[in-house]
Amino acid sequence: RASVGPKYLSGLNPEQRDAVETLDGPVLVLAGAGTGKTRVLTTRIAHILSQGRARPAEILSVTFTNKAAREMKHRLGQMLGHAVEGMPWLGTFHSIGGRILRTHAELAQLKSNFTVLDTDDQVRLLKQLLQADNIDDKRWPARMLAGLIDGWKNRGLTPSQVPSGEAAVFANGKGGKLYASYQERLKILNAADFGDLLLEDIRIFREHPDILRQYQQRFKFILVDEYQDTNVAQYLWLRLLSQAPTSPSFTSPRVRGEVASQSDAGEADSPQTELVETAPHPDALSASEARRDPASGAREQTPHVKNICCVGDDDQSIYGWRGAEVDNILRFDHDFPGAKVIRLERNYRSTGHILAAASHLIAHNEGRLGKTLRTEDHDGEKVTVTGSWDSEEEARGIGEEIEQIQRQGEKLNEIAILVRASYQMREFEDRFVTLGLPYRVIGGPRFYERAEIRDALAYLRVINSPADDLAFERIVNVPKRGLGDATVQMLHDHARKRRIPLFEAARAVVETDELKPKARGSLRDVVAQFDRWRAQREVTAHTDLAQIVLDESGYTEMWQKDRSADAAGRLENLKELVRSMEEFENLQGFLEHISLVMDRDGGAEEDAVSLMTLHSAKGLEFDNVFLPGWEEGLFPSQRTLDEQGRAGLEEERRLGHVGLTRARRRAKIYFATNRRIHGTWSTTIPSRFLDELPSANVEITESKGGSAWGGTGGYGASRFDDMEAFGSTYSTPGWQRAQANRNRSGGRSGGGQSGFEEQASSFSSSSGPDFGSFSS
Ligand code: ATP
Ligand code: MG
Repeated sequence: RASVGPKYLSGLNPEQRDAVETLDGPVLVLAGAGTGKTRVLTTRIAHILSQGRARPAEILSVTFTNKAAREMKHRLGQMLGHAVEGMPWLGTFHSIGGRILRTHAELAQLKSNFTVLDTDDQVRLLKQLLQADNIDDKRWPARMLAGLIDGWKNRGLTPSQVPSGEAAVFANGKGGKLYASYQERLKILNAADFGDLLLEDIRIFREHPDILRQYQQRFKFILVDEYQDTNVAQYLWLRLLSQAPTSPSFTSPRVRGEVASQSDAGEADSPQTELVETAPHPDALSASEARRDPASGAREQTPHVKNICCVGDDDQSIYGWRGAEVDNILRFDHDFPGAKVIRLERNYRSTGHILAAASHLIAHNEGRLGKTLRTEDHDGEKVTVTGSWDSEEEARGIGEEIEQIQRQGEKLNEIAILVRASYQMREFEDRFVTLGLPYRVIGGPRFYERAEIRDALAYLRVINSPADDLAFERIVNVPKRGLGDATVQMLHDHARKRRIPLFEAARAVVETDELKPKARGSLRDVVAQFDRWRAQREVTAHTDLAQIVLDESGYTEMWQKDRSADAAGRLENLKELVRSMEEFENLQGFLEHISLVMDRDGGAEEDAVSLMTLHSAKGLEFDNVFLPGWEEGLFPSQRTLDEQGRAGLEEERRLGHVGLTRARRRAKIYFATNRRIHGTWSTTIPSRFLDELPSANVEITESKGGSAWGGTGGYGASRFDDMEAFGSTYSTPGWQRAQANRNRSGGRSGGGQSGFEEQASSFSSSSGPDFGSFSS
């Protein structure tokens, strides 16, 4: 079909073109990975601008990350042939919401220079509130309250709207009241948290229709990427902005029910109904309704919903745990009456084998709309599945493969390693430093830069070098010991006067009565502890010493008491840190290595391997994608299964689907037969997701050492449902190998049974013992 029109339209397929050119009314592009959804959004902006339908400042365009926003702007420039000046409303929900809030800060009892609190600040503030209220924060941790408040904010709930049943789960019903006093404190401190950046906007919009109208008039077009991962607050915010501006005579807020029902046409069906709507999803759209044919089901465009275009994929909804509601996308044509729903079926990203593997995997989910994806690309290389003896061998193997790919002349920028849990990154980072391979960590700090790792390293640095003032200052009051800023200030004064390190100043000060007895006692303990650890260093292995320090200092306990989701991750990272020390002869050698790792500057422009979690990989694409750690318990994550059951499993599977569909040409999956988790070697079994991959598109390869599969050629193939993919070498029945496996691993694992191992056994008894054999 000959395409006419501007150049930027010429490469699009007819459906994409339809999505770009349908500028009026609501449009939903519901389509699978790599079908060009993001490209459609970008082209749509180019089209709006070049058609003169709006100026850059009149387009509201929401991306999932700031990086994606920059990328979009860059592409836009390429399409239009000139840089686009001023797209002030292109960004994330947070950045745009924050911008609006700053403009009207006084309406939220803030000044326009308010600070945005991060999670740590938030928790510190909540701790103060708990103390003031005499609530035992061991029993009711501040982090738990922070999680609850975030959850409420994600759902668009102000303190008075929190259902009493939910407020009851914290501190015997004080949850809602604490939320309210937290909000009050924020105002006094001239601060907002991330949730407020949208929630306060929503409140302002509802209470000041004239302000809402300004924005409704300003934004001629609204575009949203990754719509499947929006939460209720984001939905409400969008919905308010997406209504056509109303005349001032209709601006007084009315209570839902006072006006005619939504479905009535005409004046009564005014957007004000929504201004005070608190329950965003009064009636859930059933799956069958959602599957309704968009052509016959679509109503004529109603005049009061503006030009909003959302794109997304229900199979890539991976932020349910953070309050995202996949329902938002499923009920789009209900929320935005008259919406045109466009489906894209051609995947432009991946080769045939990769796409088939990803589609086959996701087909195991029940709760999905289901969609066809095809590629006109060739089959390419099969997806490989490689078993390794342990995670170290896995990292070594991947390092070698990357070097090989690099020797073939490919760019490191086109290589990504996607992990399920951030602690997995450590082994890769170390390996890359050893190999001198540039890498960058996307969407989070690098392993050794994480707060808990820096704290732990600070302890070790003070042991190693008492003159390391920066390290000492970092941990002197972590965990809390009543040694606040005043004490530290005093130590500084002492140190400066006598030209001695802070640590020595502390030793001197505790002999005087300059400090109050309590602080003096605690500081004396700290000094004594470090003296003791230094003495122990001579007789204790450095890894044991690290564990002792973390335990005796109370640092581990500090995180154990925090029974929140991210505390568990921090504890895992600490274990991983201790484990990583094993690879060095002594503490000195380890710390030198760390300073090398920390020193490596990750210049943004350099050619480097990308390392990130599966969650941060959304929307990205790379020629080569490595997917390590596909083992039960790690991926799918045991925690997710425990906490969310079947829904959790489906979300994990979507995560696997996201991972595979990031790859253009090569997708390589790995699992290790042994993984050190929580300091103990555990025998693991390959992820159930490997079972769910189609054998025709998958190739089982041996790691260089060949150890995971056993030297006799007995492949650990019985985990996979189709034997023919794995050749005739398969011989020993799974249960025999499993038995042998368990016997050997018993001798191998040395340290006691971990939860992981128990879980491996219980899993194998229910679904057949079927993991690979070991070579001895
Ligand atoms: P995801 O769901 O992973 O976010 P997506 O649907 O947003 O994927 P895009 O990232 O927009 O997909 O596109 C995937 C790749 O296909 C990109 O490299 C894009 O440039 C390319 N692409 C999209 N449409 C076309 C087209 N019509 N012709 C050629 N390449 C295309
Ligand atoms: Mg995209």
